[in-house]
Amino acid sequence: MKTILKKILQKAGLYFFLQGNYRSFLSFIDRMSLRIRYSKYKGSGYECNFCGRSYKKFAPRYSSKEDEGALKKYDVIAGKGENIYCPYCMSTARERLIVQMLKDHFTTDHKRILHISPEKKIFNYLRTRANVTTADIVPGFYKLIDHNVEYADVTRLSFPDETFDLVIGNHIMEHIPGDKKAMHEIFRVLKNGGQAILQVPFSEVISETIEDPDINDPGKQSELFGQKDHVRIYNIQDYIGRLKNAGFTVNYISPVMLKKYSMYAIQPGEGFIDIRK
Ligand SMILES: [Zn+2]
Repeated sequence: MKTILKKILQKAGLYFFLQGNYRSFLSFIDRMSLRIRYSKYKGSGYECNFCGRSYKKFAPRYSSKEDEGALKKYDVIAGKGENIYCPYCMSTARERLIVQMLKDHFTTDHKRILHISPEKKIFNYLRTRANVTTADIVPGFYKLIDHNVEYADVTRLSFPDETFDLVIGNHIMEHIPGDKKAMHEIFRVLKNGGQAILQVPFSEVISETIEDPDINDPGKQSELFGQKDHVRIYNIQDYIGRLKNAGFTVNYISPVMLKKYSMYAIQPGEGFIDIRK
């Protein structure tokens, strides 16, 4: 019944509109509820670099039962744990890390940027400064973030060579069976000297990347990779190696070097992968 209804709504062009609004509504409820529950924690401790509010602690985000086996087993840095959501605006630890890096280490003003699978908060930060093109393989899903979002298969981009100064695809590679092809494509569309932000969940416990690009079984993917739509868990060194093979110069900024950002409640153990063409 659910599938039939989904198909009818998709045909009528209403599915993503209704789903998007429904998600916005749920997110609004979550936000209001967090603001109330965390009002007692207002004060110094952590500061949100999106909304500027400070709290003694931020809200946690725990993994689901289905996902937690693999995430725990391989100690995956995957955006879960304590102090993930800002209780006021619900920015996440991974978004706060990216926006701080953008503020401190990137020149974004008037630049040409490709933002793949755009996160609302990061897109809103960039849109007032730069010329941002947003894209995804399911663009309908992102219409409420940017109504101009384009269709794009990252393994076969339609943009000409050397179009962008910066490509952001935050936590997308672990979803893409042909990740190496996607890296080559991103390299191709970047201008010389351009930069990419392609953070992924990773493990330092496994000696090699665990993957199955042909898998199409959400239950099994949760069990193996810790999320129902992931096709791998990267070993961090292997991930950096794949980026280098695509032609990039890569510099890993370790979690120790990011300690200066700990007041923004970034995720402990997450480094920043500095990627340049
Ligand atoms: Zn906030």
